[in-house]
Amino acid sequence: MNLTAKEYCAYIQKAAEAIASQGDYVTQLDLAIGDGDHWVNINAGFQALCAMRPELETLCISDCFKKIGMTLMSKMGGSSGVLYGSGYLAAAKAISGKSCITLDELFCAMSAMRSSMMQRGNAQPGMKTMLDSLDPAIPTYEREKNARQSQAELLAKVQQAALQGAQATKNMPAVKGRASYRIDQGVGYIDPGAVTMSIQIQALCEYLTTLQ
Ligand code: ADP
Ligand code: MG
Repeated sequence: MNLTAKEYCAYIQKAAEAIASQGDYVTQLDLAIGDGDHWVNINAGFQALCAMRPELETLCISDCFKKIGMTLMSKMGGSSGVLYGSGYLAAAKAISGKSCITLDELFCAMSAMRSSMMQRGNAQPGMKTMLDSLDPAIPTYEREKNARQSQAELLAKVQQAALQGAQATKNMPAVKGRASYRIDQGVGYIDPGAVTMSIQIQALCEYLTTLQ
């Protein structure tokens, strides 16, 4: 598989549609333990990317990631705008100069995104953030990629890991983000940022499966 900017933009469109459709749910989650704006922020970011699709599609994949990062940084708002912005800029660096990337290179870029988010947010997995959905997807890919299975099966496992990671935030006390200031540290509530991350990973895996 070789992923171009044109294809990555098709995925972004799918992710944007999935995010747009989950407004009530995500806002409800963020009203419970945050300030209620997470969905508005991430939806604004992804709608901005969709509006730029014609331009993004003409770029090489590394420049496409860079432009996505700069756009999210300026259009998304909230802590998540900064985290996704720096995450995409780091992902762009990891595949610097490439016009298209393999599945391995895509996960390498996602790993760079994870490191950058951890550094920027001063956070680790287990602190009840978006990282808790992104983090398990990467070792699942690494562990499963050489198993005897189809790419669809592999991607289904990655997607499942991200989803389970998001669900697992329910029982975590928040160490970072607004939920950490609550007396209960948000225990008993799923983290909204982890949910929107898992929506993106689900859209990505589903889209990549259609490419084979
Ligand atoms: P804000 O917290 O500024 O209101 P958003 O509402 O856009 O920002 O996003 C909230 C989400 O951001 C949280 O649900 C959590 O997943 C994530 N988040 C917040 N702080 C951090 C951090 N320091 N590191 C990683 N993720 C974080
Ligand atoms: Mg917020």
